Amino acid sequence: MEGQELEAPKKKLVVIGGGIAGSLLAKSLQFLADVILIDPKEYFEIPWASLRSMVEPSFARRSVINHRDYFTNGRIITSSAINITETEVLTAEGHLIAYDYLVIATGHANRVPKTKTEKLNQYEADNEKINSAHSILIVGGGPTGVELAGEIAVDFPGKKVTLVHNGSRLLEFIGPKAGKKSLNWLISKKVEVILEQRVDLNHLSDEGKTYQTSEGETIRADCHFLCTGIPLGSAWLKETVLENNLDKHGRLMVDGNLRVKGRKNIFAIGDITNIPEIKQGYLAQKHALVAAKNLKLLMTGGKESKMATYEPGSVMAIVSLGRTSAVAQFPFTTISGCIPGLIKSRDLFVGKTRKQMGLDPLVVHD
Ligand SMILES: Cc1cc2nc3c(=O)[nH]c(=O)nc-3n(C[C@H](O)[C@H](O)[C@H](O)COP(=O)(O)OP(=O)(O)OC[C@H]3O[C@@H](n4cnc5c(N)ncnc54)[C@H](O)[C@@H]3O)c2cc1C
Repeated sequence: MEGQELEAPKKKLVVIGGGIAGSLLAKSLQFLADVILIDPKEYFEIPWASLRSMVEPSFARRSVINHRDYFTNGRIITSSAINITETEVLTAEGHLIAYDYLVIATGHANRVPKTKTEKLNQYEADNEKINSAHSILIVGGGPTGVELAGEIAVDFPGKKVTLVHNGSRLLEFIGPKAGKKSLNWLISKKVEVILEQRVDLNHLSDEGKTYQTSEGETIRADCHFLCTGIPLGSAWLKETVLENNLDKHGRLMVDGNLRVKGRKNIFAIGDITNIPEIKQGYLAQKHALVAAKNLKLLMTGGKESKMATYEPGSVMAIVSLGRTSAVAQFPFTTISGCIPGLIKSRDLFVGKTRKQMGLDPLVVHD
């Protein structure tokens, strides 16, 4: 009608992956674009709170968050993306979803339950497994294995915990000092740590209660937890239009503005990218905010030359050791004990992350 301006239709933004990076990006742009979030599960989970949830299942009520709670104005497709073209995404359920802009944030491909209720039940089952065991074997000495050993050693000091790691030191993703400090702490809590050995994964059985290592050692334990690395969530991209955008490690190569190299309307954020920095959630969150800013600019007709540039982060990581201690690597020093523990170990940044997602840090409204 004369005198009335027609509003331009909103751009279609598809976000693949509802982890730390994808969820924050979807939340940030939900009122600016027509946002569609594709994730195989109905919820977002704070990964570094998962080990606490195994010793204290009620902790997961705040750290496992339904996508719908923070993403109130977009569409959620509970499925995995299996292919993309220049204009569409195909999901495992056979949906074809058109996009103007695409963000890939598929971090790590972990097989997890579909619903929050199933996830909370899984933590109850893990807790029961820990509770009913006298001795526990943890396989893997990266952050997951070390944090789980720390949680069990502090909350269940009577249990015999053995941690087997195939590398020559713990926490190989950060410096040797952090590995040594966490080893000393675990030993002080009577955790037996066996390095440079593998557990024979083909003959793992909870019933047998004996486990063989590559050096022929026999470990007796009532149960085990597998805490070995999870593969990157990029295998599905190998047969898509982005196959040549993957580096030899399977990471998506991005430019300084976080667009997939050579692509005008496809961004990648989080652990899936080849950004030369340590893979950490707080950096994945920074990627999300930079990409959101750039998408906003492009979607509102801004100039490409005005896009924000992402600067790789420095090596900084905190690994919790139970409820009050931690080991922290900062750019110029590595410390352990209650000071880094004060930063991370009590709430594991759950309140902070909930707040960033626009939720009450403390109270869960089911
Ligand atoms: C034990 C442990 C402790 C940690 N502690 C910290 C810490 O204290 N601080 C910190 O900053 N970082 C920490 N990290 C690292 C942090 O968890 C990761 O860097 C972060 O999760 C990366 O976020 P992301 O969004 O890139 O990937 P992810 O969080 O892995 O999310 C990927 C999402 O993509 C989905 N997905 C995968 N494939 C597909 C597909 N084909 N289609 C659709 N969806 C798909 C997955 O379901 C998932 O939701 C820790 C990690 C671990 C394991």
